[in-house]
Amino acid sequence: MNPESPSRERAERLARAHACAKCGEYSWKRLRLRAATPPEQEALNAVWHAELGCGVCGLHQEIVIDHEGDVTPA
Ligand SMILES: [Zn+2]
Repeated sequence: MNPESPSRERAERLARAHACAKCGEYSWKRLRLRAATPPEQEALNAVWHAELGCGVCGLHQEIVIDHEGDVTPA
C-alpha cells in the first residue's frame, strides 16, 4: 500500500463524513471498513472499501476511498 494513502482512522472519518445517498443524513449506525481488493484497486483506484448502514433510513451503501481520500460509490 502507498505510504501516503489514508490511514484506517482517516478512512473511517471520511466514510462517516459521507452523506447517505437516500436521506442525506450522516448518521451511520454500521460501518465495516476493509482494505480494497486487488480488482477494486485496479478498477476504482481504491485503497479502502466501506459498507455503511444508515441509522435513519436503513440504506445499505458501499463506497470506496482512493489515495487522495476521495469517496466514490463502489
Ligand atoms: Zn439514509
